[in-house]
Amino acid sequence: MKQSLQGIGASPGIAIARACFLSSERYVPEKRTITDAAREVGRFREAIAVAQGEIEAVRAAAEAKLGAEKAEIFEGHLMILEDPDLVDAIIEKIEGECVSAEFALYEVAQSFIELLQSMEDELLRGRAADIEDVSGRIMSHLRGVPHTDLANLSEECIIIARDLTPSDTAQLNLNVVRGFITEVGSRTSHAAIMARSLEIPAIVGAGASVRAIPERAVVVMDANEGIVIADPAAEVLEQYREKKRTDDLRRSELEKLKNRPTLSKDGKQVELAANIGKLEDIQRAIDNGAEGIGLFRTEFLYMGRSSLPSEEEQFASYKYALEKMNPKPVVIRTLDIGGDKDLPYMELPKETNPFLGQRALRLCLERQDLFRTQLRALLRASRYGNLKIMFPMIAVLEELLEAKRLLDEERRKLLAEGVEVSDTIEVGMMVEIPAAAISADLFAPEVDFFSIGTNDLIQYTMAADRMNETVAYLYQPWHPSLLRLIRLVIQAAAKEGKRVGMCGEMAGDSTAIPLLLGLGLHEFSMSAGSILSSRELIGRLSRAEWSDHANRALGMRSSKEIAQYVETIRNGVTT
Ligand code: PEP
Ligand code: MG
Repeated sequence: MKQSLQGIGASPGIAIARACFLSSERYVPEKRTITDAAREVGRFREAIAVAQGEIEAVRAAAEAKLGAEKAEIFEGHLMILEDPDLVDAIIEKIEGECVSAEFALYEVAQSFIELLQSMEDELLRGRAADIEDVSGRIMSHLRGVPHTDLANLSEECIIIARDLTPSDTAQLNLNVVRGFITEVGSRTSHAAIMARSLEIPAIVGAGASVRAIPERAVVVMDANEGIVIADPAAEVLEQYREKKRTDDLRRSELEKLKNRPTLSKDGKQVELAANIGKLEDIQRAIDNGAEGIGLFRTEFLYMGRSSLPSEEEQFASYKYALEKMNPKPVVIRTLDIGGDKDLPYMELPKETNPFLGQRALRLCLERQDLFRTQLRALLRASRYGNLKIMFPMIAVLEELLEAKRLLDEERRKLLAEGVEVSDTIEVGMMVEIPAAAISADLFAPEVDFFSIGTNDLIQYTMAADRMNETVAYLYQPWHPSLLRLIRLVIQAAAKEGKRVGMCGEMAGDSTAIPLLLGLGLHEFSMSAGSILSSRELIGRLSRAEWSDHANRALGMRSSKEIAQYVETIRNGVTT
């Protein structure tokens, strides 16, 4: 059987080994009535005591292997063992219904698990896995069967399971376990978080099809892409072996850069930040050495639901992001809806040219109710970190001034209500419309920073819809017209002593980075996975030299010519 599955890459890397299934079936005890309730309660308490000793040992091992912070999960497990809500409910069930300890444990734990799994809050849902873990351990002692001994696996393998509990993950014998794949789970499940700390490749949420992989089949897992291939053909196997060699080498080198500043070869410092859409992305940004969040696309908070998020909901999200990144900066962009991002519940009128229509700030200035709600949530959250507010899709100065006026009005209202608001919030704008780029000098005195949104700036400069395949040939990031606009923006900002970032995809593009560094860009914001390789690239570039190269490139006639020029210089071939 040859098959390829797609899951979520939860911890990067490539692994090749035989599949080893971890039985994930939870034991479901039959209802058994008992006559000696005291004896049954005694068995239950004894099983708890043994589990306690075991968890303490696992905790100590995890602390040695992963550090105190990660071992905290097991403190949580010990607390579950002492949790009167759970323990007393089980004892009451044994005594009140005269049922076996196994049955009472299963029933009570299951009701807790189901309740927690139905919660919105991700942390509470995570607690369901903890209760499953702990109750499984107690159950194995009640039944006298050993808890699966992951620490004693002896053959190189990739573990495949429905899910892995935190204690499973902490016990993995890293001398033989090459990676793991789970049917369920998300990037933020405990197992995924621990896999990242252990730095073993992990793919989660690969779906029920993983069960069709035969036990001991050779499996290739590419956790960088979330791909699982079982029983690969010989040439595919060789291809992945080669990919793995290159990947391992590169990753171990890149990891060293995680907590380093981003410096060019000639010692000029720039900032590498991450673009995020969901709160879960923040951890990924941190894991990849982001020096801040350069773009928080808040529209994702408004999507996938049936009504607008309340001020409270938004406040909680912004506060979370700011606290998690503090003291690093978080640039939060106000709602950018419209264009390709629709909110069906708002029933916005259909437009002939939605990308040129009432999107983003244009809509917010019209629908001030929803804009003011967002501004209030942002201002209230500001005291929890280093907030920068950014307005999207500005074409003319009046739009910026109006947005700032509304922000100021909401600030004054909050202060009058006695709400604390930071007085160091920077306010900036995206430059994604050619009109704003060309007249950047008019905007520069009015903002604290610019962030160039090349995804839109390219489509508007070229009049080529970014979604339309047939005109994709015009979507040219390195075209002289784009580079000239970028230079205009950087020069206008420099005159006012303001910083310029870029949060369009171009900022993480290895052909563009040398030119952008040369043009004097201060901040590059990109998807988290590109940060370390970009930091490494910048370390090999001299800004002074690339300033000359960029000026030369700006005089060239086509994207192709510019790309070839960059390639030639980067390969060290002089022209
Ligand atoms: C951009 O236009 O470059 C940008 C970052 O915004 P979005 O992709 O969300 O439109
Ligand atoms: Mg945009």
